[in-house]
Amino acid sequence: MKKTLSFSGIKSFHECEAEAVAVMNNEWDRKSTFSPSTIEAMNAGSFVHKYFESKEALDEFKKEHESDMFTKVGKLKSQFQIAEKMVNRLGSDPLFKAIYKGSKELEIFGKINDINFHGFLDCLNLEKNIFIDIKTIRGSIYEKEWSESEHRKIHWIESRKYLWQMAIYQELLRQSDDEKIGKNIQPVIYAITKETFPDSSGITIPQEWLDDSLLEVQEASEKYIEVLNGREPKRCERCNYCKATKLNTHTISITELI
Ligand SMILES: [Zn+2]
Repeated sequence: MKKTLSFSGIKSFHECEAEAVAVMNNEWDRKSTFSPSTIEAMNAGSFVHKYFESKEALDEFKKEHESDMFTKVGKLKSQFQIAEKMVNRLGSDPLFKAIYKGSKELEIFGKINDINFHGFLDCLNLEKNIFIDIKTIRGSIYEKEWSESEHRKIHWIESRKYLWQMAIYQELLRQSDDEKIGKNIQPVIYAITKETFPDSSGITIPQEWLDDSLLEVQEASEKYIEVLNGREPKRCERCNYCKATKLNTHTISITELI
């Protein structure tokens, strides 16, 4: 298991302890379970990030992903056509252009519950006292998704635990000893959609929500420490890892399924 966690590490651990631990111990390759369209969508998302990071980062990405980006006849693959539309949308968004300035792809470090955490900020704008995270999303900015734990539909920013991510980054920035970095930098999630007509919005989060989210991250990291100290990781029995490694020993009642 890892001594340094990222947002995605603690999120995976929260979703299924058994799968996350298997991934960390190189016993399970989560990426190999992704469908080609998921991988293409992830690459298209990276394209959007690289575009606004720097010209060098974009050129490097294009060189690395040439075969992923183009079809055999040299046509841009559909996901990347959409990515280009998204880039154009953000490029003509006056708010985005005004605030997406400062340090890009900045690595930050700190501790939560004595566990080392690290993260990458898409953009840190110290003049405006904000950090910005670009999120490329399939549906609309208003989209709600089913949450298994909440048994209801919740907004995608909540269901994907992006509130945790923003709370972690805010806390790591708070711990920075760089004097230029203030103690209460606010996150802005810059959402850009993959719709036929891409939509974009800069989204802020009330501080109480971030405070609550940080408490949840602390609770999750306490469970992580328990497993580090030898507790058996819990299985969710729903993810691909749990299905692939399931060994039935008894029947289950239909009442457990409904
Ligand atoms: Zn699982």
